[in-house]
Amino acid sequence: MLKSIIEIAIEQGCEFKENAPMSDYTSFKTGGKASLVVMPNSIESLSQIVCACRQNKIKTYILGNGSNVLVSDNGLDGVVIRIGSDLSDIQYIGDGKIMCETGVSLAKLCSFALSKSLSGLEFAFGIPGSAGGAAYMNAGAYGGEMKDVLVCCEYIDRNGNAGVFSGDELHLGYRKSVFTNTDYVITKLFLQLTLGSYDEIKAAMNDKLSRRKEKQPLEYPSAGSTFKRPEGNYAGALIEKNGLKGFSVGGAAVSEKHAGFIINKCGATTADILELIKYVQDTVYKNDGILLEPEVKYFE
Ligand code: FAD
Repeated sequence: MLKSIIEIAIEQGCEFKENAPMSDYTSFKTGGKASLVVMPNSIESLSQIVCACRQNKIKTYILGNGSNVLVSDNGLDGVVIRIGSDLSDIQYIGDGKIMCETGVSLAKLCSFALSKSLSGLEFAFGIPGSAGGAAYMNAGAYGGEMKDVLVCCEYIDRNGNAGVFSGDELHLGYRKSVFTNTDYVITKLFLQLTLGSYDEIKAAMNDKLSRRKEKQPLEYPSAGSTFKRPEGNYAGALIEKNGLKGFSVGGAAVSEKHAGFIINKCGATTADILELIKYVQDTVYKNDGILLEPEVKYFE
């Protein structure tokens, strides 16, 4: 059955890899092999692959930059559709509006906005995801979030039908959107930014980046903040208060630098990370009565 997907990939000139280790595609650098990873090079090829997977009843996983995903050590019996730089067109439409394809990295999107002296995406500079992943997650940092700038998203459903969600229809909330837990695939984003000063935007972006370098354990593989922020509190502060900084299971550890990050310190498996997540959850719940909810998405 995978043959039909490989045939489309070859016909459309898309890169693909069989028995692909997911540690190569995730920022945590863990996970077993996926039967097939395919990288669509156009919205048309994406649509054909998505439809063929549905028609052949093949389990499908949508992956952006893999910076908020944890993959089972047992691997994935299905097709991973990895949307990356082959789908990364960006255009300035005018009046502060930018259109981008879903696979563009936030780094490239932010640099494009800066080149046009457009303000609004400074918060996103340094978040290592794709635009599509950021819309899906409503990624945010330093008081900003995608919700502030995202006007509408085009998507396809698993039959390849195109649709669009605009404004309130996007249901952007804390690390969630209308796309959360659906099988829609985001194809394009439209962002509304405002004209600003090039120097100020650049300074703000550099400031965010240095704050990340100073506070976050960027030298280790991770998925950023492992847990969502509990209401009225901070996951990192709760974890630190419980004395868990540096606590480890196998090769996974709570970062010494930022307790909100679980890191792959030394050859961790996904099982190590999951066990550590559970240990942290249980400890914080027992002592503080707060259940920390993972932000990272689990693929199995
Ligand atoms: P992935 O991790 O590939 O996927 C995440 C989810 O989105 C999955 O469920 C996937 O199926 C879905 N998805 C991805 N693309 C699409 C698409 N085109 N259509 C439909 N569904 C899709 N996050 C923050 O919010 N703020 C931060 O400050 C932050 N800092 C981070 C720092 C580090 C060092 C790291 C490693 C991560 C950080 N993150 C942060 C987490 C992560 O970068 C963001 O959540 C990012 O938006 C995920 O984008 P991605 O392309 O990597 O998505």
